[in-house]
Amino acid sequence: MNKSVNLVTLYKQSKINMFITFEGIDYSGKTTHAKALVEFLEEQNLPVLFLREPGGTLISEKIRTILLDKVNLGMSQVAELLLFSSARAQLVREVITPALGKNIIVICDRFTDSTVAYQGYGRGIDLEDVHRLNHLATGGLIPDLTFFVDITIDEIYKRQSAAGVEIDRMESSGREFFEKARDGYWRIAQEAPDRFVVVNGTRPIDVIQNEIRDIIMKRIIN
Ligand code: ADP
Repeated sequence: MNKSVNLVTLYKQSKINMFITFEGIDYSGKTTHAKALVEFLEEQNLPVLFLREPGGTLISEKIRTILLDKVNLGMSQVAELLLFSSARAQLVREVITPALGKNIIVICDRFTDSTVAYQGYGRGIDLEDVHRLNHLATGGLIPDLTFFVDITIDEIYKRQSAAGVEIDRMESSGREFFEKARDGYWRIAQEAPDRFVVVNGTRPIDVIQNEIRDIIMKRIIN
């Protein structure tokens, strides 16, 4: 039996749920690591699905366009919160829950913690309201494991200008907003230490990715 067959068998036998989310401020490297992890798991023949928030369904992608469009700079904070939640409600019911039911590993680039960090800590919306809405949107679904990729705000601006792409509505929110959201992530991670892994995102990509892969493999093998 080769190594990949072994892993698939181990994963199926383990009956563990693997709903893995990646969190962090824009440009922290979330997407890079989520996608690299998906590639790695696919190479191991493990069943895996990659999703990004907001998005992942026809309805959620349409909501994403509204949320990121700079034409909508006048969007109220509550409208923003409700739109993110609507996109999530559809994604959970249409895609995530059915996939987890088939024992597929679901990897999601952003989930409920983004709403707590950005709309709660960042924008200052009452945290209880945010939690209640998250619960309504997800039907109580909580990730099994969350990687918080953390970098400084200075580093974010460096990467943003190196990328040289036009920033979207969310990315144009300003330094103070991102500082608050980053602090928010730290609080959330400290409140749920069993679920969170805080990753120092300033190191080279391959070093970080190897750390992430090790953590996932240990979960499957144990
Ligand atoms: P996010 O999804 O958090 O917005 P991305 O994964 O899209 O971030 O990465 C944003 C940019 O930063 C990309 O150009 C990516 O290549 C770069 N980047 C990601 N991680 C690192 C790292 N550890 N060191 C240097 N640059 C990185």
